[in-house]
Amino acid sequence: MPERERERLDGVLAEMRAAAGRSGRDPGSVELMLVTKTVDASRIAPFVERGHRLFGENKVQEAKAKWGGGELAGYRPDFIGHLQTNKVKACLESCGRIHAVDRMGLVVALDRELRKRGEERDVFLQVNTSGEPSKFGVPPHEAVALAEAVSAYPSLRVAGLMTLAAFSTDPEKSRPCFRLLRSLREEVLRRRIFGPEFRHLSMGMSGDFGVAVEEGATIVRVGSAVFGHRSTPNSLYWPDHPSE
Ligand SMILES: *Cc1c(COP(=O)(O)O)cnc(C)c1O
Repeated sequence: MPERERERLDGVLAEMRAAAGRSGRDPGSVELMLVTKTVDASRIAPFVERGHRLFGENKVQEAKAKWGGGELAGYRPDFIGHLQTNKVKACLESCGRIHAVDRMGLVVALDRELRKRGEERDVFLQVNTSGEPSKFGVPPHEAVALAEAVSAYPSLRVAGLMTLAAFSTDPEKSRPCFRLLRSLREEVLRRRIFGPEFRHLSMGMSGDFGVAVEEGATIVRVGSAVFGHRSTPNSLYWPDHPSE
């Protein structure tokens, strides 16, 4: 792995440990997901060799092209993007856990395909904690109802909640979003909608993962802080006009 990437990775891991320390958490209770969108397989392979196993991709086509064979064959990224129902089959084939389940249409499509495959899958419910219209995710006041509805589909094992915080250069702006996600997890647990497998908070990115760890993240999703700046705009991954 190139020196620069190793240094950045070590820096991120050190900041995660420091944030866990500041909030009295066990550093082992939070995992680093490396978000590899736009990063070539040849740059990802050294991380796999070094023993890293948790990766995230945002687009089904890209996940399929990069992880379906070649140097990354045998490994699967988590899927963290907005999933269209017509891409469910390809997504289940190429990816592992699905982080952005945010509507019943998608739940039904996933369940149908999973039952065809005779499979269960870990998923996360995505909540729009920032209230920004450009973000996908169920509105916070509908999250518990979505959880209840999804609990009727045993092919989906709900592992936790996921969010994208408000975009800002100030990580403190993300803190209320992360707190809100944590409080929704408490509410779902209190109502015993799911069992103990429902425990994750997938939250925090390059600009705010330290705050996310302080607020209870169990998975932080980090791309550019390790792989460097992307030339593609974020609007490619979080379209302003959701098509469904
Ligand atoms: C790209 C992406 C990330 C990581 O973003 P960085 O700012 O590069 O760390 C996290 N979550 C999702 C859903 C993403 O698409």
